Amino acid sequence: MAQDSTSPGSPTDGPTDAPVDATAAPRRPSLSPSRAADFKTCPLLYRFRTLDRLPERKSRAAVRGTLVHAVLEKLYELPAAERTPAAAQQLLAPAWAELQEADPEVAELFAAGAEEAAEPLDAWLASAGALVERYFSMEDPRRIQPEGREQLVEVTLPDGLLLRGFVDRLDVAPSGAIRVVDYKTGATPREAFEAKALFQMKFYALVLWRVRGVVASQLKLMYLSDGDALTYSPDEGELVRFERTLQAIWAAIERAVSTGDFRPSPSRLCSWCDHQAVCPSFGGTPPPFPAEAAAAAGWATLPVVERD
Ligand code: SF4
Repeated sequence: MAQDSTSPGSPTDGPTDAPVDATAAPRRPSLSPSRAADFKTCPLLYRFRTLDRLPERKSRAAVRGTLVHAVLEKLYELPAAERTPAAAQQLLAPAWAELQEADPEVAELFAAGAEEAAEPLDAWLASAGALVERYFSMEDPRRIQPEGREQLVEVTLPDGLLLRGFVDRLDVAPSGAIRVVDYKTGATPREAFEAKALFQMKFYALVLWRVRGVVASQLKLMYLSDGDALTYSPDEGELVRFERTLQAIWAAIERAVSTGDFRPSPSRLCSWCDHQAVCPSFGGTPPPFPAEAAAAAGWATLPVVERD
């Protein structure tokens, strides 16, 4: 599941990019592509999401992303010959039922009086079905046998930094060549935003290289909204440099945690941020630094917090 290339709120991401996923709770502080992107976008946003764990509104676009990811994951549970467009459409209703059961909040998005209730549920489900259908114009799933789906990949770097993330799909050829695939329910980013979109994929490539000793042959972002794909082939030197970038981001996060100083970094992306009410850039006051929650999450170096 993953981040939309342009927004902190990720309106169209799948589960990899869910703002804070309890199932992905680290055993100790770790860095994921989404959280690294948060910090780069706005350190205060990182704090609100990762340390304060402030609730965020669910959007229909984000839930649709989760639903489409679930359908594509289940599609690959079928025998290869049965992975047809019709079979995929039949997976929509049960996947939607499962989603609502796992998180009753998603059903509330369609309750009478809900903010976005203008679009009927049927139309929303049909839009998810259209994205699933478009997938078949991009790939023939009968010809693909993934090694992993929604697969956790993680590694601890020599300096102790734990990197974790969930790969939508991992394909490994008989030759050992690796392809990392990520589904996006949004449209292909403009060229200026391609680097942001690839940040997440390079993260996965780095983890896989460190774990398996193989540099992925291809990183593939599939944009189901317009049926386009962005592919990239990293090399080893690039992954070494990317590792240094992540270490620098982590060092900055550790510094911010040790001082409690997470600065807001306002940008046009604030339009998607759920935390304007507690953001100094919008006249708000952040809640007290959650030192106890941070300690419970395994942060060793914390700022001294004055108590009443
Ligand atoms: S509203 Fe505040 S916390 Fe949210 S992204 Fe903008 S600057 Fe950061």
